[in-house]
Formats: sequence, structure tokens, C-alpha cells
Amino acid sequence: MVNKTLDPDDWEEYRAQAHKMLDAAIDKMQGVNSGRVWTPLRDEMKYSFQEPLPMDGVGVEAVRQRAQDLLAYGVGNTHPRFFGWVHGAGSSSGLIADIAAAAMNANLGGRDHGAMYVEKQVVAWVKEMFSFPDEASGLVVSGTSMATIIALKVAREKALGLENRKSGNAANEAGALVGYCSNQAHACVARAFDILGLGSDALVQIPTNDVFEMDLVALQTAIDKDRAAGKKPFCVIGTAGSVNVGAIDDLSALADLARAENMWFHVDGAFGAAGVLSDHVRPRLGGLERADSIAFDFHKWLHVNYDAGFVLVRDGEAHRATFSNRPAYLKGAERGLAAGNPWPVEYGPELSRGFRALKIWAQISEHGTGKLGAAITRNCAQAAYLAGLVEAHSKLQLLAPAVTSVVCFRYIGGDDLNEEIVIRLQESGIAAPSITTLNGRSAIRVNITNHRTRFRDLDLLVDEVVRAGAEFKSKFAG
Ligand SMILES: *Cc1c(COP(=O)(O)O)cnc(C)c1O
Repeated sequence: MVNKTLDPDDWEEYRAQAHKMLDAAIDKMQGVNSGRVWTPLRDEMKYSFQEPLPMDGVGVEAVRQRAQDLLAYGVGNTHPRFFGWVHGAGSSSGLIADIAAAAMNANLGGRDHGAMYVEKQVVAWVKEMFSFPDEASGLVVSGTSMATIIALKVAREKALGLENRKSGNAANEAGALVGYCSNQAHACVARAFDILGLGSDALVQIPTNDVFEMDLVALQTAIDKDRAAGKKPFCVIGTAGSVNVGAIDDLSALADLARAENMWFHVDGAFGAAGVLSDHVRPRLGGLERADSIAFDFHKWLHVNYDAGFVLVRDGEAHRATFSNRPAYLKGAERGLAAGNPWPVEYGPELSRGFRALKIWAQISEHGTGKLGAAITRNCAQAAYLAGLVEAHSKLQLLAPAVTSVVCFRYIGGDDLNEEIVIRLQESGIAAPSITTLNGRSAIRVNITNHRTRFRDLDLLVDEVVRAGAEFKSKFAG
């Protein structure tokens, strides 16, 4: 008889396939310190993902094999010498959590079921991490981009009144609302302004000082000028860990200024906010505990597997009032499955939500905040070590102080040369830094948000940069 459900015909066969996949996954994780960093997908494998929509399935074994074949072709961020952009390295705790989450197939939009209590625990832990009050609210989201949209919508409604939820941005007369961030802020902030209908022009980018922190005098001047022009400054966005150089704005001064100006104070702490767990970074984060909202990622410096971000809002009631609109079919109840109010759907745009909270809870539970924080501290020491190697080398030039995890430098020569060095390193599979632009010049950018990185990986990186630089120097007119 043909099985019409999607469940296996033969559970023993399924079990064997699942065990094979699990073994392959563990082998991959166990061998993560060796091998190439990035391996581009082979052409025939690319073509194998350009098939027409299948009418008939191929069965579990073929699917398991195909998934297993992909394991070697990640971006490389699990490798100790992945230094590009800002990625987390992931951890083995996520595998166990994702197996459980897949088996439960929970929807965390709301209702009263086991998974919800795990997310509530995560929310409570985050409040504790950042010394936020009980009345604060939080939501597990995909990442800081989504968290920023949610936080700034609360800020917008606070400025325009909840009536704006119905009338739309017409309430923002002639686009008068303006917000401020530094010119080092992540592009997701401007994107949030765009998505929220404020327009990215309403986000004023304030210049930074010589260590890439927002210039507070320039900020005050911009606010005064905008007020004089009849605009309504409504929020200031501080960055805790900038993408380019890892700088942390003076959050304490921004908190003071936001209070004096009656503005919302949001912090983009995508990777840097996790520094509250590190003895090295924590002293730099003073003022973070006074933010009105924080957006940050568990998938970066806390190494929860992708994707796992978080938005934390001091005024939980304002947060709920910004998103809540429960229609009759989502009505809550005091008892039964529809209990457990308020529901997460009241804190963000998504109704159906997966069980990301489990892998976050698993990571924190398995390792504890002490170990997670120590890994952050070690990365900062490694960044400082690399900065020292760069400064000591006659062919290399440090371009910004290494305050957290990021080191930006150049092989002395032109932009083309430095860009070529980075691409060669990525293609060689030896290491994966990335490229950025600082003060108009290309920089080799090494970000160490990676619990697997060893100090000797940085020695090797420097050797390889110097070798590639010398090799290609003749090719480019520096
Ligand atoms: C990575 C990053 C973001 C974007 O976060 P996602 O989780 O990728 O959406 C925002 N700001 C900073 C400073 C970042 O490093």
C-alpha cells in the first residue's frame, strides 16, 4: 500500500539515513580546524540545483546524499581563519537544538506551548544581560536588520502618536521627522528609515572623529540646525561595534544627549553589544543600559548558528502598542491553547515564527556567559596582537586602532594591490579577510569574531598577505 502521508514508509530506513546525516554533520564540525576556508561550489553541483520542478520525489536517501555533499561548500565562517565581514563561527550546541526544533515544528507566533517558555527564558536573560527593567520587552528575530526596523517603528510611533498606525506617515507632516547616526553606522539603519516610510534622507549621517566614533559636537549642531528649520529630531542611533573598524560610539554621552533632546536612543549593537559579557569590552559599553532599544545578534559574537537576532525595548508597553492588532481568529484566552498572553506576534511584523529561541537557549545553557564572554575577550586580544604584527612590519600599515575585533590595514601600495591580495587569499582557501574603504582608500579588513581562531592563525595570515603582496606588487603600479 502506498503511504499517502509525507512520513517515511520505512522508519528504519529513515533512521539510518538520519544517523548518516548526523555523523557527517559531526565529522564536519570536528574537522573544522583543518582544510580550506572557502571552497566555491563546483559547476556540476551548481547545475544540479537548476533542475525543473519535480513531479515525483527521489526519496530520503538521495536527498540526504545531496545535503551531505553541500557540507564542504559553506561561506567558511566555521573555519578559524574566516575573517570576513562580521560572521559568527557557530557551535555544536546548535545542531542538537535544531534537531529538537525540527522534530517539534513549533510555531512561536503565540499560544501556550512548551517552546514559548524557552523564548520567555531567553527574553528574561537578555534583559538581565543588559540590566534592563522587568517592563522591557524583547523578541527573537532573524537578525539586527529586522530588529532595527522593529525598534525604530516603536520610536516612530512614540514620536507621531499611535494614530499614525492608521493614518500612515501622513501624520509625519512633510517628512519632518529626522534621526541621526554616524557615517560609520550599518546600512540597515538607512534601510529601516526607508522601509518605515521616513525615507533614508531623514537619516542624517554625522561625521566621526579620528577614532571613527560619532562626533558629538557635529551631532548637536545638526540637531540644533534641524530644529531651527522646523524639523523634528526624534531619534539618535549609536553604534556599538561598527562594521568597518569595530568602533564604539560614546554611548553614555549619546544617552545624555538623547534625554536632553527628548529623543529616542537606539543602539545598533549587532556584534558589539555581546561585549557586555566580556571584561575587556564591558567598560567601553557604558550607557548601553540607558538605551531605549537595542538591536543585536546572537549569530555573530555569541556564535549561535544562523539566524538569531534580538530586539530589546525598554518600554515594553510602547513596543506592544506599536505592533498589536489581534483579530478575532487570533484572540487570546485565559486558559487552553490560546492562553500565554501577550503573544510574540504583538511585538513584531511576523505571525508564524520558528523556534530560534531553542538554539539560543542551548548555547547559553551549555557554555554559560563566562565562557562566551572569555571568547570575546580573547578575540580582542587577538585583534590587538594582529595590529602589533602589522605595526611591526615595514610592508604593512595599520589604518585604524583595533579597539574590539576588527583590524584594518594595508600592504603598502595601491588599492588594486590590496584588493587583489584579499581575493587571492580567499581563493587560496588559506584565509578569508574582506575589503573595506577607509578615508577613501581600500583596506584589508580582518574581523575576529571567531572562537576558533588561534594566535598562530594570525601569524600565518600576515605571512600570506606579505607573500601575496610581494608576488603581485610588480603587476600593479601601486
Ligand atoms: C551585521 C551587522 C548588522 C546587520 O545585522 P544582520 O543580522 O545581518 O541583519 C547591523 N549592524 C552591524 C554593526 C552589523 O555588524
